[in-house]
Formats: sequence, C-alpha cells, structure tokens
Amino acid sequence: MRWSRAFIPTLREDPAEAEAISHRLMVRAGLVRQLAAGIYVYLPMGQRVIDKINRILREEIDAIGGQEMTMPVLHPAEIWQTSGRWHDIKEEMFRLKDRNQRDMCLGMTHEEVIAWLASREIRSYRELPQIWYQIQTKERDEARPRSGVLRTREFWMKDSYTLDVDEAGLGKAYDLHKEAYARIFGRCGLTFYVVESDPGMMGGAGAHEFMAPSPAGEDEIARCPACGYAANIELARSVPAPTPAAAGPREEVATPGVRTIAELAGFLGVEPAQTIKTLLSVAPDGPVLVLVRGDQQLHEKKLARLLKAEVRPAHPDEVRETLGAPVGSVGPMGARVPILADEALRDGVYVAGANREGYHLRGVRPGTDFTVTTFADLHVAQAGEGCPQCGKPIVVERVIEVGNIFKLGTKYSVPLKAVYLDEHGRERPIVMGSYGIGPARIAAAAIEQHHDADGIIWPWAIAPLQVHILPVNVKDAAMLETAEALGRDLQAAGLETLLDDRDERPGVKFKDADLLGLPIRVTVGALLAREGKVEVRTRRERQDIPVPAAAVVERVRELAERLAR
Ligand code: ATP
Ligand code: MG
Repeated sequence: MRWSRAFIPTLREDPAEAEAISHRLMVRAGLVRQLAAGIYVYLPMGQRVIDKINRILREEIDAIGGQEMTMPVLHPAEIWQTSGRWHDIKEEMFRLKDRNQRDMCLGMTHEEVIAWLASREIRSYRELPQIWYQIQTKERDEARPRSGVLRTREFWMKDSYTLDVDEAGLGKAYDLHKEAYARIFGRCGLTFYVVESDPGMMGGAGAHEFMAPSPAGEDEIARCPACGYAANIELARSVPAPTPAAAGPREEVATPGVRTIAELAGFLGVEPAQTIKTLLSVAPDGPVLVLVRGDQQLHEKKLARLLKAEVRPAHPDEVRETLGAPVGSVGPMGARVPILADEALRDGVYVAGANREGYHLRGVRPGTDFTVTTFADLHVAQAGEGCPQCGKPIVVERVIEVGNIFKLGTKYSVPLKAVYLDEHGRERPIVMGSYGIGPARIAAAAIEQHHDADGIIWPWAIAPLQVHILPVNVKDAAMLETAEALGRDLQAAGLETLLDDRDERPGVKFKDADLLGLPIRVTVGALLAREGKVEVRTRRERQDIPVPAAAVVERVRELAERLAR
C-alpha cells in the first residue's frame, strides 16, 4: 500500500474531550472518526485491525466446532416480551415501531433469537450439541458512551451460543469457550486475567470475564498473586485483618457533633475497625439494616444479590422515622428491622450508634447483644486483605472487560420453548450458554497496553499492516526506487507493507510512523548512498539496525518471526 494513495488521516493534535489513550491514538492515527456520541466510522486502517481480530475470532471459534451465521439487528418485540427482557431492560434498549405500529427493537444481544431458532429447528437430542456464532452489530443506548471505542452505542460483537442436552454438556461447551478465549486474547497480544463474574441477579450457574489490566478500564478485580484467585470486585471475597481486641463494659457515651466513622474513631481513641458502620437500605420488601465494620465499605451489588432485589440507601427522613435518630447516631441495638451484617463482624467488640442523637454505645457484641438475621459477605475487597483461598494478600486492579462467558442454563429456552426430545421421548429444555467478545474493545485494550508517548505499538497479529517503508526523501530517485523495490520484495515474501511515498518533511513522516505504530520500520535514508544500507527497527525497541538493501527481506523475516511469537 502506498501512503500517497491511501486514506490515513493522521492528526497532530489530540481530539478535544478524548481522555483514554486508546481514544486519542485511534483518532490521531486515522483509525476512526466519531459520527455522534458513541457512534464511530472505522477508516481503512481501523477496519484492517478489526478484520485481523475477526479472523482470529473465526479461527478459534471454528476450531471448537462453532458454525457462523448472521442474525438480524432489527428484532420483533415478541421474542423479547416472551423472555421478559422487553420489560426488564430499561433505557439501554433502542425501541421503535414499524409502519404498522408494531413494536420492534434493535438487538443488544441475541439469546432470544437463538432460543427462537432452536425452538423451531431442534427436535431431538440427536441434533445436540450445537455451537452457533456470529460477528454482528449490537445496538445499546449506553448511559455513558465514553473512552472512544471502549464503550460505544453501536459495536461489533462476536457472540456464540451453545445448545446442550444437560448441565454436563454445557460444562464442556463452557470450558471449550474458556480455552478458546484464552487463545484469542493471547494471540491478540493482550495481557489478561480470567476472573469469576456475577452471573446476574437471578443466580445462574456461573460466569467468567476476561479482563485486560489497564488504568482506562471501568471495572475492578481482586486477585491473589500467590494462588491465582481472581474475581470481579462485585463478588470478590477477602478476609480482612481480625478486629483489634477491645476491653471494657457496655456503656453509652456522649459523642456530640460526631458524624463519620473517622470522627468517631478519633473522638473515642479507637481504630475504625473497632466501630460498626450502620446503613439503612430500602428493599422492595421494606427497610433492612446493613452493618459493615468501620474500616470497610458496603458493596451494594453484594447486598442486592443477597436480597435478590434492587436496593437503595434510605433518605435521612426514612432513617429518622425507622430508627428514631439521625444518620450519624444510628446503630443495631433495639432496631426493629432485619439486620444483615458483614462476616467481619462475627467476632469482636465494637462501638456502634446508640439510636439516640449525639450518643454511641461501647462494648457492643454482634450476635450477642443484638440478633443478626444474616451474616454474609457484604464488604468491598480491599488490597492487602487476605485471599479467600490461601490467605496471602490480594491486589486490586483496574481492568477492561474484553470478553465474557456465561452459563445461561434454561433461562431463555423455557420461556421461548426451545425444547428437545430425549432418548426416552421426554420433552426437555435445551441448556444454553452465551459467550461474547467485542473486537473493537480488543483493539482499544491492545493500544492501552501497548503504546508510548509517540503512538501505538501494535502487537504483530492485529497490526493494520506489518512493515512501514520510509524513504526519507522521495525526490531522491535512488531512495524512492530502493524503497519501492523493497516493498515489492517484502510483499513477495508474504509481508504487508505501507510505503510512505509522500513528499513530506522527514520529521512529519517519522512522527506519523511512530503514531501509526506498525511493528517494523525500514528507513531508506542517507546510509543508502554512503554504504548501500537501509535501517531496520522494531516499533517497540526503536533501535535502528543498518542492513544491506539486499539482506532486508531476510532480516525483516527474522524480526517478524520473533514479533509473531
Ligand atoms: P460492560 O459491563 O462493559 O457493559 P457487558 O457485560 O454489557 O459489558 P456483554 O453484553 O457480555 O458485555 O458483551 C460482551 C462483550 O462485548 C464485552 O465483553 C465487550 O468486549 C463487548 N462490549 C459490550 N458492550 C460494549 C460497548 N458498549 N462497546 C464496545 N464493546 C462492548
Ligand atoms: Mg453493558
């Protein structure tokens, strides 16, 4: 490819409002343009990256028996009404009406279509298992489309769905995907963790997320470097340090003006871990009192999972009405609502609110001095706390979710009547799994993980092109001719080349080369006339190696082999 004829609109300046590095670099390197919030045009270089990722996706999903198909973006409302998601999903779904006023929506995901298809086409256990997949556009009216292509309102997804006769079959299909996903992200050059994830409000049989560590991520995970335990922070468990021992009888103490845990601990000269944080939450069945240790934070998703319902913090008036005291003085003693306490409070003696304005109680023993309805894991796992498996300190990291696998069970097959006849002629629901990957998120995550101050450093397998040939001065006939000849030879050797044949200042061309970040660069400059040599470098190392023009193909091949590993 010749740059002079190509459409690679690089920019000198960062686009306004672009915070994530991948966002800035993808716009500046001429990979994408934003049409509207969360809606992007993929320019030729961006498209090549997506195509390469999609090829890897197809190879790996085909290899586990996946069969590619294409399902529509436009869906009739009925299938979503039948599954219940027409109601459950709120603003994230794009809804519309056709000319006959029939409700329609744009597909956010395709479990319903798969179950609809299976309900019509699968008859017998002999036709199972099946792995169906597509690489198709999804439409979601995301609350906060941001960070460039990391979170957009229209995006591609490779989504696979497995159909099995039973849980054991699903287990196998799930493991096949888990292994294929690891190969996919590895081949795309990502560093990633496989973590336990929340299978959703209704329980569910299990789920994992594939997480690429990056400060640009919107998720957090806790993991244990010692034993490999890893989970999304939404369900990560941890063992906090034991509560420091406290002596003394139970007594009420005046704590005028004290509102926060820090103020309370300071005022009474105790550790925050020797206090109880009391929070009133409102669930659909009424208020519940939630207790965590003073040094801990409540994870609202853990609470919601325990209660199998959405919960919200009570308003200050509701707190006063229910407990007879303002927010800063409430505690569990004498409260007439169910009490849910974090596991860290099972042992120890604490300071808690007295349910009397301006007073606290010392010497409070949970489970002894008041009844705890349920002890459960409700706290946010924090760095340095003990691993739930081996006890060694955990770390907490920010990550980008690049893929996710999910045991659906019969959640969709039952309402949509996707059933089969088993060997005894009995009707049974098909057991399903679903598995998603966003190719654009892979591209952006790869840039987040592989870049420097000057631009992108593409992993070999997903680079838009492989070798950047840069004649420093195209008005020098020998330079241009050598560069063109090298381009032909490299292409003949099976390498993808970009020849920067623009009549631009060398500085501009070098800057653009670093920005676009092709893995290997061949610079044809002054050394050619002096020594008959050109310079070969990798984008990552940036060390020019003088190479005789005749030896370039061999040298590039060696580098390519190393980079492709
Ligand atoms: P998130 O929690 O980030 O919203 P999700 O749980 O909604 O993701 P899935 O529905 O499981 O994601 O989608 C599967 C994959 O599709 C994700 O792992 C991600 O790679 C990609 N993806 C999801 N939403 C978007 C989006 N808005 N923009 C780009 N890619 C996305
Ligand atoms: Mg989402």
